[in-house]
Amino acid sequence: MPLKIDKKVCDRCGTCISVCPCNALLLTDELSVIRDQCTQCGTCVAICPVGALEIEKL
Ligand code: SF4
Ligand code: SF4
Repeated sequence: MPLKIDKKVCDRCGTCISVCPCNALLLTDELSVIRDQCTQCGTCVAICPVGALEIEKL
């Protein structure tokens, strides 16, 4: 399942972008994920200081 971004919680600090090994995160006016590039490694989920990221489970 894809990485889920809670855009109401995300404060766009950019920390997750700096740790993503796949360059799968983009920050413009809001954070978005390039799903084809995301391997769901969970690194960004672990680092987000406000808990805005989650890997959705089946
Ligand atoms: S680390 Fe969390 S709060 Fe910061 S940009 Fe990423 S998702 Fe948003
Ligand atoms: S789960 Fe891993 S590959 Fe996907 S956006 Fe987060 S850090 Fe990048």
